[in-house]
Amino acid sequence: MSFIDNLIANVIREDIRANSAYVVPDSSGLLKLDAMENPYGLPRALREELGRRLADAVLNRYPVASYATLKEKVIGKLGIPAGYDVLLGNGSDELIQIVTTTVANQKRRASVLAPVPAFVMYARSAQFAGADFVGVKLKDDFSLDMDAMLAAIALHQPAVVFLAYPNNPTGNLFDTGDVDAIVEALGDKGIVVIDEAYQPFAGTTLMGSLPEHDNVVVMRTVSKLGLAGIRLGYMTAHPRLLAEFEKVRPPYNVNVLTQVAAEFVLDHIDVLDAQAASIIAERERMMPELAALPGVQVFPSKANFITLRVPDAAAVGAKLLDQKVLIKNLSKMHGSLANCIRVTVSTPEENSAFLNALKAALTPA
Ligand SMILES: *Cc1c(COP(=O)(O)O)cnc(C)c1O
Repeated sequence: MSFIDNLIANVIREDIRANSAYVVPDSSGLLKLDAMENPYGLPRALREELGRRLADAVLNRYPVASYATLKEKVIGKLGIPAGYDVLLGNGSDELIQIVTTTVANQKRRASVLAPVPAFVMYARSAQFAGADFVGVKLKDDFSLDMDAMLAAIALHQPAVVFLAYPNNPTGNLFDTGDVDAIVEALGDKGIVVIDEAYQPFAGTTLMGSLPEHDNVVVMRTVSKLGLAGIRLGYMTAHPRLLAEFEKVRPPYNVNVLTQVAAEFVLDHIDVLDAQAASIIAERERMMPELAALPGVQVFPSKANFITLRVPDAAAVGAKLLDQKVLIKNLSKMHGSLANCIRVTVSTPEENSAFLNALKAALTPA
């Protein structure tokens, strides 16, 4: 054993040593359809104006810790109910971390529960915070298995339940009656985090349920809408609950460049909304085309990606890569995703390129 081996064995948590880092594949030179990014970017005139604003950003000072101006814009432009404040995060990934850290309990281990397959950061953040993660399998059609959910809630008494609405990596919206039943079942014993990362493509939101339920947190991000690079997430909840999360938030977690960029782009939110509308239209065009392919099963989607089952996901993934198309093979993520792949909905040209590449990949050599 070398010095560094000993140091790591002595110091680093055993569960972290056993874990591996989050892998992001190299996408250079590829048609990148693996990460639910908006393909469009901002129009030139807006980028030039943004450049001027960024040039004036005060980089030598810490951000203004209240983030009052940015919060006001988020609240005004993104449909936060009256009387509700927001907490900002360095992406909603950080907000997930803040929530799990706030509930993790040293004396009696806290549980964090989510239906699975789910967004991987729920389980990772729970583990890093020192909480137990409980995954409850979705039904084969990816709807909530309410008997299993309610039984698991009764057994584990989770401090937090994460529900992505729409769900990633499956793309569907859960039944709102089911969501309500989970919120009711937890009552004042647990928080339900509604993760609306894909809300711009869903045509619906559960934001309206906030005033009725003080144990609901609604979390969103600007990433999928078209600003994945600036890293900005926001969440809202009862002010008393938000104040507890606020204690865990690192004081300057949103940087000045992000702040300036977000304030500027939120004044032109109509541009991103129009891009989202084209992505939705493309999703609706692609669904029947994909469903018509032999051996392909398409799952309903209200997000900016489509999950489909193919005869052999590993072979299809490799053949797509040969054609310089990068998608996500979900097969190894969870048992119910055997031979499933996930593709981001992009521009009409890129989507057609994907459809052609997929057709070729499905054709026996
Ligand atoms: C992409 C995604 C996020 C992470 O968003 P960031 O703001 O980019 O960190 C959160 N939740 C779900 C369900 C996602 O798919």
